[in-house]
Order: sequence, then structure tokens, then C-alpha cells
Amino acid sequence: MGRNISIDLHVHSTYSDGRLTPAELADLAVRHNVVALAVTDHDTLAGWREKTNACRDRNVEPVIGLEMSCELDGREAHILSLFADPEAACAERIGDLSASRLARMKAMLERFADMGIHIGMEDLPVAENGVYGRPHLARALVAKGIVKSVSEAFARYLYDSGPIHIAKTRLSAGGGIALAKEMGGVAVLAHPGVSGLIQEIDRLAALGLDGVEVYHPKHGGETIARLLRLCRDRGLLVSGGSDFHSPGDGPDLGAAMAPVDVLEPLRRLAAERKGSA
Ligand code: AMP
Ligand code: FE
Ligand code: FE
Ligand code: ZN
Repeated sequence: MGRNISIDLHVHSTYSDGRLTPAELADLAVRHNVVALAVTDHDTLAGWREKTNACRDRNVEPVIGLEMSCELDGREAHILSLFADPEAACAERIGDLSASRLARMKAMLERFADMGIHIGMEDLPVAENGVYGRPHLARALVAKGIVKSVSEAFARYLYDSGPIHIAKTRLSAGGGIALAKEMGGVAVLAHPGVSGLIQEIDRLAALGLDGVEVYHPKHGGETIARLLRLCRDRGLLVSGGSDFHSPGDGPDLGAAMAPVDVLEPLRRLAAERKGSA
């Protein structure tokens, strides 16, 4: 509140591992002076109509998109498709990624059971269409009093390659970039300063990447300056988002403070792409 206006092109809802519904997210956007919002759930475009209407009803500009789980040399690379067309035929291919998350969650619950920790599907917070992620498990562990916080849940049980973690179905980075664009969207690398992929941006650009999530609450001033230079030198577009998941747990919606003027070039590229499809 009282913040300058900004945009937020990366938040999560109950359609994946976020805790708020699209309407609650749009309310928060208004409170934080966020004038354009992309609800980019993990591996699904489900709920895009509800998300669009929730924003429009509150005079927030909706941007349709998603965050795809991809892989580069065995490392996790998250690729956003912004301004994606949810009715593009190729969007069906995301179905494999989202569907695999339900089976994976059941297998992770079995791993907990093997450790004597019994969590049932009914203990998990809502994930529309079964698009579950580890944060659902973390919140169930907190609710059951097994850990005190989501971060403790990750540190003790849920960390990558830990006792519970099971790899997700992922696209190759090149495949994810291609699909992001085939859907008419702009392919943006999410939070490279968090995933440690800044050094790989040139490779991803060679694979067709369009842009980089430069503004992010976990990118410090030096990282932002470095990424802005990189984007300028390589002709990549600039994006920004908070990766907001849940109130009181991680960065708040709008915390990226992404400037409004990054939106237009992204929109223009997506429009050109759809026009030439
Ligand atoms: P998954 O998609 O199921 O592999 O879970 C990864 C998600 O867990 C990420 O999108 C983050 O939202 C969240 N996450 C990863 N590491 C942590 C952590 N240390 N603390 C809190 N949340 C985390
Ligand atoms: Fe997430
Ligand atoms: Fe991510
Ligand atoms: Zn995210």
C-alpha cells in the first residue's frame, strides 16, 4: 500500500502451489498498486478465464501465462510463457507435466509413510486439478505441527535430492522455449539469479529465449544491473515478477517492483508472433 505503481508478471494461485485464489490475488494487486498481473501457475493454463475475469473486474490488466518446469543439464530451469494463447492446439502438451504432479505427490506421501510420517491427500491444501507441488506438503507438515515453518519443511525433508523429493516430469529447456513461443507467448527465463542460471543465458538465447525475469525480489541491485546490461547487449526483453505464492511466506505480491514500461515490448512481441502464426 502506498507503493508506486508496478506490474507483476509471475505469481501463483490455487491452480498450482499458491495459496490464494485468482480473485484474492487480484484484490492484492489492487492494494499494492500492481496494474498488470500474470498468474503463472506451474505447468498449467487451467483457470485462465477465471484469472482474466478476476483481473478485469478490478481494473488490473490480465496477462495469460504459465511457468513450465524445464531442465538444462539436469538442472531445473523455469520458463515462463507470457501472453500465451490457452486455446492453441499445442497447449495440450502441458497436460503431461500437470498430470504427472498428482502421481508424484502420491509417491512423495508414500515416502513420508515409510518414514512413519502419515500425511493423506486430504491433509493437503487445495490444488485445482491435482497440480500439486512440494509447497503443499510443506504446508501440511506445518499444519500437523511436524515442522514450524515452510522453510523448515524444505530444509529437513523436501529439499532437492532429499529423502522425499522426486523429480518432476520436465521439458528440455529448448523444448520449453519452443512450446512457450508456439503457444503465441513470449519465452522468459524465470528468476535466473535464484536458480543460478545467469551463466546459461547465452545458451538459452541460442535456443530461442526471448526474455529474462530481471526484476525479482531476490535479485539484488547488482544482479538487476547485470541482467539489464545482458538483456540490452543480447537483444533480450526484460520482465519482472515476484513469484508470490502465499501471504507471510516469501516475497509479497508486487515486491519485484517491476516498472510498467517493460510490459509493452513483451506484449508487442507476442502480438507479432500470433499475427504471423
Ligand atoms: P516442486 O515444483 O514441487 O518441485 O516444488 C518447487 C517449489 O517449491 C518452488 O516453485 C517454490 O515455490 C518452492 N520452494 C522451493 N524451495 C523452497 C524453500 N527452500 N522454501 C520454500 N519454498 C520453496
Ligand atoms: Fe511454486
Ligand atoms: Fe520458479
Ligand atoms: Zn514461480
